[in-house]
Amino acid sequence: MPNFVNCPHCQHQVHESAPACPSCGAPNQAMTYTSYDQVPWYRRRWALVLAAFVFMPIALIIVFTGDVYLFKDGKVQTFPKNFKYTLLLIFAVLVAIQLSR
Ligand SMILES: [Zn+2]
Repeated sequence: MPNFVNCPHCQHQVHESAPACPSCGAPNQAMTYTSYDQVPWYRRRWALVLAAFVFMPIALIIVFTGDVYLFKDGKVQTFPKNFKYTLLLIFAVLVAIQLSR
């Protein structure tokens, strides 16, 4: 599934692997959020944790449609790339437990 980020300069949708924004030419390093306030609420860690507890598929949709951000050591960071597969594995185990009852 392709991952897109919003260009902070022109809000153009830019693929995460693109070296620069095709619309305004801003380098892709600028694509990551510089402030946690800029991160949409559904891309924040607490939203993911909440979604995971309320309805796991929502959490899966969040992690598979883009990065999840957390604020750590004074800067905005993303979850590791393999985190989504860990979450998928947890979900699969939970489903298996439900089915075996
Ligand atoms: Zn741009």
